[in-house]
Amino acid sequence: MNEQYSETVRLAQRLIQFDTSNRGGGDANPELPAAQFIAAYLTDLGLQPEIYEAAPGRANVIAQIPGANPELPGLVLHGHLDVVPADPANWSVDPFAGEIRDGMLWGRGAVDMKQMDAMMLTAVAELLRAGEKPRRNITLTFFADEENGGVFGSEFMVREHPEVFAGNGYAISEVGGYSIYLGDKRAYLLQTGEKGNAWIKLRARGVAQHGSRLPVDNPITKLAAAINRLAEKEWPITLGETTSNLLAEIEKLTGPGSPQELVARTGAAATFIDATLQNTCNVTRLNAGYMHNVVPDVAEAVIDVRTLPGQKEATLAEIQEILGPDIEMDVQFSGIDLEVPFAGEAVDAMISALQKHDPDALVLPYLLSGGTDNKALAELGISGYGFAPLLLPPELDFPAMFHGVDERVPLAALDFGHRVLVDLLREF
Ligand SMILES: [Zn+2]
Repeated sequence: MNEQYSETVRLAQRLIQFDTSNRGGGDANPELPAAQFIAAYLTDLGLQPEIYEAAPGRANVIAQIPGANPELPGLVLHGHLDVVPADPANWSVDPFAGEIRDGMLWGRGAVDMKQMDAMMLTAVAELLRAGEKPRRNITLTFFADEENGGVFGSEFMVREHPEVFAGNGYAISEVGGYSIYLGDKRAYLLQTGEKGNAWIKLRARGVAQHGSRLPVDNPITKLAAAINRLAEKEWPITLGETTSNLLAEIEKLTGPGSPQELVARTGAAATFIDATLQNTCNVTRLNAGYMHNVVPDVAEAVIDVRTLPGQKEATLAEIQEILGPDIEMDVQFSGIDLEVPFAGEAVDAMISALQKHDPDALVLPYLLSGGTDNKALAELGISGYGFAPLLLPPELDFPAMFHGVDERVPLAALDFGHRVLVDLLREF
Protein backbone atom coordinates (compact mmCIF):
# COMPACT_ATOMS: atom_id res chain seq x y z
CA MET A 1 0.00 0.00 0.00
CA ASN A 2 1.16 3.48 -0.83
CA GLU A 3 1.89 5.46 2.34
CA GLN A 4 1.25 8.81 0.67
CA TYR A 5 -2.48 8.18 1.10
CA SER A 6 -4.46 8.02 4.34
CA GLU A 7 -5.41 4.69 5.85
CA THR A 8 -9.07 5.31 4.91
CA VAL A 9 -8.15 5.78 1.24
CA ARG A 10 -5.87 2.74 1.25
CA LEU A 11 -8.51 0.55 2.88
CA ALA A 12 -11.24 1.68 0.48
CA GLN A 13 -8.86 0.96 -2.39
CA ARG A 14 -8.07 -2.51 -1.06
CA LEU A 15 -11.78 -3.31 -0.60
CA ILE A 16 -12.55 -2.26 -4.20
CA GLN A 17 -9.88 -4.76 -5.33
CA PHE A 18 -12.01 -7.62 -3.97
CA ASP A 19 -14.40 -8.16 -6.88
CA THR A 20 -17.60 -8.89 -4.95
CA SER A 21 -19.93 -8.45 -7.94
CA ASN A 22 -23.49 -9.47 -7.21
CA ARG A 23 -25.52 -10.42 -10.28
CA GLY A 24 -28.69 -11.08 -8.27
CA GLY A 25 -30.79 -14.16 -7.66
CA GLY A 26 -27.99 -15.88 -5.72
CA ASP A 27 -25.46 -15.47 -8.56
CA ALA A 28 -22.56 -13.54 -7.03
CA ASN A 29 -18.84 -13.58 -6.40
CA PRO A 30 -18.45 -14.58 -2.74
CA GLU A 31 -17.94 -11.82 -0.19
CA LEU A 32 -15.81 -14.17 1.93
CA PRO A 33 -12.31 -12.92 0.90
CA ALA A 34 -13.32 -9.31 1.69
CA ALA A 35 -14.97 -10.46 4.92
CA GLN A 36 -11.81 -12.30 5.98
CA PHE A 37 -9.70 -9.23 5.22
CA ILE A 38 -11.99 -7.08 7.39
CA ALA A 39 -12.06 -9.70 10.15
CA ALA A 40 -8.23 -9.73 10.22
CA TYR A 41 -8.18 -5.91 10.47
CA LEU A 42 -10.67 -5.97 13.34
CA THR A 43 -8.76 -8.75 15.12
CA ASP A 44 -5.63 -6.58 14.97
CA LEU A 45 -7.64 -3.90 16.81
CA GLY A 46 -8.30 -6.36 19.63
CA LEU A 47 -11.88 -7.17 18.61
CA GLN A 48 -13.41 -10.62 18.15
CA PRO A 49 -15.16 -10.45 14.78
CA GLU A 50 -17.41 -13.32 13.71
CA ILE A 51 -18.10 -14.39 10.16
CA TYR A 52 -21.59 -15.73 9.36
CA GLU A 53 -22.00 -17.51 6.04
CA ALA A 54 -25.57 -17.68 4.75
CA ALA A 55 -24.37 -19.95 1.93
CA PRO A 56 -20.84 -21.03 1.04
CA GLY A 57 -18.79 -17.85 0.59
CA ARG A 58 -21.72 -15.48 1.20
CA ALA A 59 -20.18 -13.95 4.29
CA ASN A 60 -21.31 -11.35 6.81
CA VAL A 61 -18.78 -10.02 9.38
CA ILE A 62 -19.82 -8.62 12.71
CA ALA A 63 -17.85 -7.27 15.68
CA GLN A 64 -19.23 -6.00 18.98
CA ILE A 65 -17.50 -2.92 20.39
CA PRO A 66 -18.31 -2.12 24.02
CA GLY A 67 -19.25 1.49 24.66
CA ALA A 68 -18.49 3.68 27.65
CA ASN A 69 -22.24 3.78 28.42
CA PRO A 70 -23.50 0.27 27.74
CA GLU A 71 -26.93 1.10 29.19
CA LEU A 72 -27.69 3.37 26.21
CA PRO A 73 -29.45 1.85 23.17
CA GLY A 74 -26.67 0.60 20.92
CA LEU A 75 -25.79 1.61 17.36
CA VAL A 76 -25.55 -0.78 14.42
CA LEU A 77 -22.95 0.82 12.18
CA HIS A 78 -23.34 -1.15 8.98
CA GLY A 79 -22.13 -1.42 5.42
CA HIS A 80 -22.38 -4.00 2.68
CA LEU A 81 -19.57 -5.88 1.00
CA ASP A 82 -21.15 -6.69 -2.37
CA VAL A 83 -21.30 -4.39 -5.38
CA VAL A 84 -23.28 -4.38 -8.60
CA PRO A 85 -21.39 -5.70 -11.64
CA ALA A 86 -19.30 -3.39 -13.82
CA ASP A 87 -18.59 -3.87 -17.52
CA PRO A 88 -14.93 -2.83 -17.97
CA ALA A 89 -15.60 -2.00 -21.64
CA ASN A 90 -17.60 1.07 -20.57
CA TRP A 91 -15.14 2.34 -17.96
CA SER A 92 -12.13 4.67 -18.24
CA VAL A 93 -10.28 2.53 -15.66
CA ASP A 94 -10.28 -1.10 -14.53
CA PRO A 95 -13.34 -1.09 -12.20
CA PHE A 96 -11.65 -3.45 -9.74
CA ALA A 97 -8.13 -1.97 -9.65
CA GLY A 98 -8.87 0.78 -7.11
CA GLU A 99 -7.04 3.31 -9.25
CA ILE A 100 -6.25 6.73 -7.82
CA ARG A 101 -6.33 9.50 -10.40
CA ASP A 102 -7.06 13.24 -10.31
CA GLY A 103 -7.44 13.23 -6.53
CA MET A 104 -10.14 10.58 -6.66
CA LEU A 105 -10.45 6.89 -5.92
CA TRP A 106 -12.03 5.10 -8.88
CA GLY A 107 -13.75 1.73 -8.96
CA ARG A 108 -16.94 -0.24 -8.43
CA GLY A 109 -17.93 0.37 -4.82
CA ALA A 110 -16.14 3.74 -4.53
CA VAL A 111 -19.50 5.23 -3.43
CA ASP A 112 -21.68 2.11 -3.01
CA MET A 113 -20.30 1.44 -0.56
CA LYS A 114 -16.73 0.40 0.10
CA GLN A 115 -15.80 4.01 0.88
CA MET A 116 -18.14 3.95 3.89
CA ASP A 117 -16.92 0.47 4.88
CA ALA A 118 -13.40 1.93 5.02
CA MET A 119 -14.51 5.10 6.86
CA MET A 120 -16.29 2.97 9.48
CA LEU A 121 -13.23 0.74 9.96
CA THR A 122 -10.73 3.58 10.38
CA ALA A 123 -13.07 5.57 12.64
CA VAL A 124 -13.34 2.57 14.97
CA ALA A 125 -9.57 1.99 14.68
CA GLU A 126 -8.79 5.57 15.65
CA LEU A 127 -10.78 5.30 18.88
CA LEU A 128 -9.55 1.85 19.86
CA ARG A 129 -5.88 2.60 19.14
CA ALA A 130 -6.14 5.67 21.38
CA GLY A 131 -7.56 3.49 24.15
CA GLU A 132 -10.96 5.20 23.85
CA LYS A 133 -14.40 3.64 23.76
CA PRO A 134 -17.32 4.80 21.65
CA ARG A 135 -19.99 6.45 23.82
CA ARG A 136 -22.50 3.63 23.28
CA ASN A 137 -22.17 -0.02 22.28
CA ILE A 138 -21.53 -0.50 18.57
CA THR A 139 -22.43 -3.55 16.52
CA LEU A 140 -20.07 -3.06 13.59
CA THR A 141 -21.60 -4.96 10.69
CA PHE A 142 -20.63 -5.75 7.11
CA PHE A 143 -23.45 -7.48 5.26
CA ALA A 144 -23.39 -9.68 2.16
CA ASP A 145 -25.91 -9.52 -0.69
CA GLU A 146 -27.42 -6.04 -0.16
CA GLU A 147 -27.74 -5.49 -3.91
CA ASN A 148 -30.03 -8.53 -4.07
CA GLY A 149 -32.36 -7.43 -1.28
CA GLY A 150 -30.21 -8.87 1.53
CA VAL A 151 -31.26 -12.51 1.06
CA PHE A 152 -27.83 -13.83 2.18
CA GLY A 153 -27.10 -10.69 4.17
CA SER A 154 -29.31 -8.55 6.37
CA GLU A 155 -32.47 -10.66 5.89
CA PHE A 156 -30.55 -13.83 6.78
CA MET A 157 -28.86 -12.23 9.80
CA VAL A 158 -32.05 -10.70 11.20
CA ARG A 159 -33.95 -13.98 10.75
CA GLU A 160 -31.27 -16.48 11.86
CA HIS A 161 -29.11 -14.46 14.26
CA PRO A 162 -31.24 -11.65 15.71
CA GLU A 163 -29.34 -11.97 19.03
CA VAL A 164 -26.36 -10.30 17.35
CA PHE A 165 -28.34 -7.05 17.22
CA ALA A 166 -29.83 -7.23 20.73
CA GLY A 167 -29.72 -3.98 22.67
CA ASN A 168 -29.45 -1.77 19.58
CA GLY A 169 -31.87 1.10 18.99
CA TYR A 170 -30.25 2.86 16.04
CA ALA A 171 -28.62 2.03 12.74
CA ILE A 172 -26.46 4.17 10.47
CA SER A 173 -25.41 3.27 6.96
CA GLU A 174 -25.43 4.33 3.31
CA VAL A 175 -27.11 6.73 0.84
CA GLY A 176 -27.21 9.89 2.88
CA GLY A 177 -24.81 12.28 4.53
CA TYR A 178 -23.36 13.60 1.27
CA SER A 179 -23.27 17.28 0.36
CA ILE A 180 -25.36 19.05 -2.26
CA TYR A 181 -25.46 22.70 -3.30
CA LEU A 182 -28.40 25.08 -3.20
CA GLY A 183 -27.01 28.08 -5.02
CA ASP A 184 -23.86 28.90 -3.07
CA LYS A 185 -24.99 27.10 0.10
CA ARG A 186 -23.77 23.63 0.95
CA ALA A 187 -26.27 21.26 2.53
CA TYR A 188 -26.08 17.61 3.52
CA LEU A 189 -28.90 15.18 2.89
CA LEU A 190 -29.61 12.99 5.88
CA GLN A 191 -31.70 9.99 4.91
CA THR A 192 -34.60 9.51 7.33
CA GLY A 193 -36.84 7.28 5.26
CA GLU A 194 -37.06 4.77 2.43
CA LYS A 195 -39.84 4.11 -0.04
CA GLY A 196 -41.42 0.67 -0.02
CA ASN A 197 -40.83 -1.65 -2.95
CA ALA A 198 -42.70 -4.43 -4.67
CA TRP A 199 -41.55 -6.49 -7.62
CA ILE A 200 -44.63 -7.79 -9.35
CA LYS A 201 -45.01 -10.28 -12.17
CA LEU A 202 -47.80 -9.69 -14.69
CA ARG A 203 -49.22 -12.49 -16.81
CA ALA A 204 -51.58 -12.39 -19.75
CA ARG A 205 -53.04 -15.59 -21.13
CA GLY A 206 -54.40 -16.18 -24.62
CA VAL A 207 -54.82 -18.84 -27.28
CA ALA A 208 -51.77 -20.52 -28.81
CA GLN A 209 -52.05 -20.76 -32.56
CA HIS A 210 -50.24 -20.63 -35.89
CA GLY A 211 -48.73 -17.23 -36.61
CA SER A 212 -50.34 -17.13 -40.07
CA ARG A 213 -53.94 -17.05 -38.82
CA LEU A 214 -56.12 -14.05 -38.07
CA PRO A 215 -55.23 -12.75 -34.59
CA VAL A 216 -57.69 -14.10 -32.03
CA ASP A 217 -56.53 -13.76 -28.46
CA ASN A 218 -52.86 -12.81 -28.43
CA PRO A 219 -51.44 -12.53 -24.87
CA ILE A 220 -48.53 -10.34 -26.02
CA THR A 221 -50.74 -7.56 -27.39
CA LYS A 222 -53.00 -7.80 -24.32
CA LEU A 223 -50.01 -7.48 -22.00
CA ALA A 224 -48.47 -4.67 -24.05
CA ALA A 225 -51.70 -2.65 -23.92
CA ALA A 226 -51.95 -3.14 -20.15
CA ILE A 227 -48.35 -2.09 -19.62
CA ASN A 228 -48.94 1.02 -21.70
CA ARG A 229 -51.94 1.98 -19.59
CA LEU A 230 -49.75 1.66 -16.51
CA ALA A 231 -46.95 3.70 -18.11
CA GLU A 232 -49.39 6.51 -18.89
CA LYS A 233 -50.67 6.71 -15.33
CA GLU A 234 -49.55 9.94 -13.68
CA TRP A 235 -49.05 9.25 -10.01
CA PRO A 236 -49.90 12.34 -7.97
CA ILE A 237 -47.27 14.32 -6.09
CA THR A 238 -47.89 13.46 -2.44
CA LEU A 239 -45.79 14.98 0.33
CA GLY A 240 -45.22 13.04 3.55
CA GLU A 241 -43.42 14.15 6.67
CA THR A 242 -39.88 13.83 5.28
CA THR A 243 -40.52 15.34 1.86
CA SER A 244 -42.60 18.22 3.33
CA ASN A 245 -39.74 19.01 5.68
CA LEU A 246 -37.18 18.88 2.89
CA LEU A 247 -39.15 21.12 0.53
CA ALA A 248 -39.91 23.62 3.31
CA GLU A 249 -36.17 23.91 4.00
CA ILE A 250 -35.32 24.35 0.31
CA GLU A 251 -38.05 27.01 0.06
CA LYS A 252 -36.62 28.85 3.06
CA LEU A 253 -33.20 28.94 1.42
CA THR A 254 -34.15 29.66 -2.18
CA GLY A 255 -37.63 31.18 -2.22
CA PRO A 256 -41.07 29.84 -3.11
CA GLY A 257 -41.80 27.34 -5.87
CA SER A 258 -43.79 24.25 -6.77
CA PRO A 259 -42.51 20.92 -5.43
CA GLN A 260 -40.89 20.13 -8.79
CA GLU A 261 -39.27 23.58 -8.99
CA LEU A 262 -37.90 23.24 -5.48
CA VAL A 263 -36.45 19.82 -6.25
CA ALA A 264 -34.84 21.14 -9.44
CA ARG A 265 -32.90 23.68 -7.36
CA THR A 266 -30.93 20.85 -5.74
CA GLY A 267 -28.92 20.40 -8.96
CA ALA A 268 -27.63 16.90 -9.57
CA ALA A 269 -29.37 15.66 -6.42
CA ALA A 270 -32.73 16.32 -8.11
CA THR A 271 -32.44 12.96 -9.87
CA PHE A 272 -32.40 11.33 -6.44
CA ILE A 273 -35.19 13.41 -4.94
CA ASP A 274 -37.75 13.72 -7.75
CA ALA A 275 -38.83 10.08 -7.45
CA THR A 276 -39.55 10.53 -3.74
CA LEU A 277 -42.56 12.81 -4.29
CA GLN A 278 -44.74 10.11 -5.86
CA ASN A 279 -45.16 6.40 -6.41
CA THR A 280 -43.34 4.98 -9.43
CA CYS A 281 -43.72 1.93 -11.70
CA ASN A 282 -41.11 0.78 -14.18
CA VAL A 283 -41.37 -2.24 -16.46
CA THR A 284 -38.07 -4.06 -16.08
CA ARG A 285 -38.59 -7.45 -17.75
CA LEU A 286 -40.66 -8.83 -20.59
CA ASN A 287 -40.91 -12.46 -21.58
CA ALA A 288 -43.07 -14.13 -24.23
CA GLY A 289 -42.92 -16.51 -27.16
CA TYR A 290 -40.51 -19.17 -28.36
CA MET A 291 -40.84 -19.29 -32.16
CA HIS A 292 -41.40 -16.70 -34.90
CA ASN A 293 -44.49 -18.43 -36.30
CA VAL A 294 -46.20 -19.48 -33.08
CA VAL A 295 -48.49 -17.22 -31.06
CA PRO A 296 -47.74 -18.17 -27.43
CA ASP A 297 -50.47 -18.78 -24.87
CA VAL A 298 -48.80 -16.66 -22.20
CA ALA A 299 -46.83 -13.41 -21.89
CA GLU A 300 -45.16 -12.10 -18.76
CA ALA A 301 -43.64 -8.86 -17.51
CA VAL A 302 -42.02 -7.69 -14.30
CA ILE A 303 -42.75 -4.27 -12.82
CA ASP A 304 -40.60 -2.53 -10.22
CA VAL A 305 -43.04 -0.61 -8.02
CA ARG A 306 -41.80 1.92 -5.43
CA THR A 307 -44.34 3.30 -3.02
CA LEU A 308 -44.49 6.24 -0.67
CA PRO A 309 -44.69 5.47 3.06
CA GLY A 310 -48.09 3.99 3.91
CA GLN A 311 -49.25 3.64 0.29
CA LYS A 312 -48.21 0.09 -0.67
CA GLU A 313 -51.59 -1.65 -0.48
CA ALA A 314 -53.60 1.11 -2.12
CA THR A 315 -51.03 1.45 -4.90
CA LEU A 316 -51.01 -2.26 -5.72
CA ALA A 317 -54.81 -2.26 -5.79
CA GLU A 318 -54.80 0.70 -8.15
CA ILE A 319 -52.25 -1.00 -10.42
CA GLN A 320 -54.45 -4.08 -10.65
CA GLU A 321 -57.38 -1.86 -11.58
CA ILE A 322 -55.38 -0.10 -14.31
CA LEU A 323 -54.18 -3.43 -15.72
CA GLY A 324 -57.71 -4.79 -15.81
CA PRO A 325 -59.18 -8.20 -14.99
CA ASP A 326 -57.38 -9.99 -17.86
CA ILE A 327 -53.94 -9.50 -16.33
CA GLU A 328 -52.84 -11.73 -13.46
CA MET A 329 -50.59 -10.04 -10.96
CA ASP A 330 -48.25 -11.82 -8.48
CA VAL A 331 -46.30 -9.86 -5.90
CA GLN A 332 -42.96 -11.68 -5.96
CA PHE A 333 -41.17 -9.51 -3.43
CA SER A 334 -42.42 -6.83 -1.11
CA GLY A 335 -40.20 -4.60 1.02
CA ILE A 336 -41.44 -2.31 3.77
CA ASP A 337 -41.19 1.46 3.74
CA LEU A 338 -39.47 3.35 6.54
CA GLU A 339 -39.80 6.84 7.94
CA VAL A 340 -38.24 8.13 11.16
CA PRO A 341 -38.52 11.68 12.51
CA PHE A 342 -35.90 14.28 11.56
CA ALA A 343 -35.35 14.86 15.28
CA GLY A 344 -34.04 13.12 18.34
CA GLU A 345 -30.66 12.21 19.77
CA ALA A 346 -29.31 10.37 16.73
CA VAL A 347 -30.24 13.16 14.31
CA ASP A 348 -28.81 15.79 16.69
CA ALA A 349 -25.56 13.82 16.97
CA MET A 350 -25.16 13.43 13.20
CA ILE A 351 -25.81 17.14 12.61
CA SER A 352 -23.40 18.17 15.34
CA ALA A 353 -20.63 15.83 14.06
CA LEU A 354 -21.03 17.27 10.54
CA GLN A 355 -21.03 20.87 11.73
CA LYS A 356 -17.87 20.31 13.73
CA HIS A 357 -16.04 19.72 10.44
CA ASP A 358 -18.13 21.96 8.17
CA PRO A 359 -19.38 24.73 10.49
CA ASP A 360 -21.81 26.31 8.01
CA ALA A 361 -23.28 22.99 6.98
CA LEU A 362 -27.04 22.83 6.62
CA VAL A 363 -28.56 19.41 7.11
CA LEU A 364 -31.79 18.44 5.37
CA PRO A 365 -33.89 15.28 5.73
CA TYR A 366 -34.70 13.22 2.66
CA LEU A 367 -36.54 10.10 1.64
CA LEU A 368 -34.66 7.48 -0.36
CA SER A 369 -36.38 6.20 -3.50
CA GLY A 370 -34.48 2.90 -3.16
CA GLY A 371 -33.90 0.61 -0.22
CA THR A 372 -31.06 -0.38 2.11
CA ASP A 373 -30.32 -2.97 4.79
CA ASN A 374 -32.07 -0.63 7.24
CA LYS A 375 -35.33 -2.29 6.11
CA ALA A 376 -34.24 -5.63 7.60
CA LEU A 377 -32.99 -4.03 10.82
CA ALA A 378 -36.32 -2.19 11.18
CA GLU A 379 -37.92 -5.63 11.71
CA LEU A 380 -36.02 -5.66 15.02
CA GLY A 381 -37.33 -2.21 15.97
CA ILE A 382 -34.06 -0.48 15.07
CA SER A 383 -34.38 3.08 13.64
CA GLY A 384 -32.15 3.44 10.59
CA TYR A 385 -30.56 6.46 8.93
CA GLY A 386 -28.50 6.97 5.79
CA PHE A 387 -25.39 8.86 6.83
CA ALA A 388 -22.14 8.22 4.99
CA PRO A 389 -20.70 11.72 5.38
CA LEU A 390 -18.93 13.09 2.30
CA LEU A 391 -18.06 16.70 1.53
CA LEU A 392 -18.21 16.75 -2.26
CA PRO A 393 -17.27 19.38 -4.87
CA PRO A 394 -20.28 20.98 -6.62
CA GLU A 395 -19.21 19.77 -10.06
CA LEU A 396 -19.39 16.06 -9.16
CA ASP A 397 -22.68 14.43 -10.24
CA PHE A 398 -22.75 12.21 -7.18
CA PRO A 399 -26.14 10.48 -7.66
CA ALA A 400 -24.91 9.31 -11.08
CA MET A 401 -22.06 7.46 -9.34
CA PHE A 402 -24.40 4.93 -7.71
CA HIS A 403 -24.31 1.82 -9.92
CA GLY A 404 -22.88 4.13 -12.62
CA VAL A 405 -19.92 3.97 -14.96
CA ASP A 406 -16.64 5.48 -13.67
CA GLU A 407 -17.85 5.41 -10.07
CA ARG A 408 -15.39 7.53 -8.08
CA VAL A 409 -15.04 9.59 -4.93
CA PRO A 410 -12.65 12.41 -3.96
CA LEU A 411 -9.91 11.29 -1.56
CA ALA A 412 -10.52 14.39 0.57
CA ALA A 413 -14.18 13.35 0.99
CA LEU A 414 -13.09 9.99 2.45
CA ASP A 415 -10.87 11.68 5.02
CA PHE A 416 -13.68 14.12 5.86
CA GLY A 417 -16.11 11.23 6.37
CA HIS A 418 -13.61 9.44 8.60
CA ARG A 419 -13.26 12.50 10.85
CA VAL A 420 -17.02 13.02 11.11
CA LEU A 421 -17.58 9.38 12.02
CA VAL A 422 -14.84 9.50 14.69
CA ASP A 423 -16.67 12.38 16.36
CA LEU A 424 -20.03 10.71 15.98
CA LEU A 425 -18.78 7.56 17.74
CA ARG A 426 -17.27 9.66 20.52
CA GLU A 427 -20.25 11.94 21.10
CA PHE A 428 -23.35 9.90 20.25
ZN1 LIG B 1 -25.38 0.24 -1.38
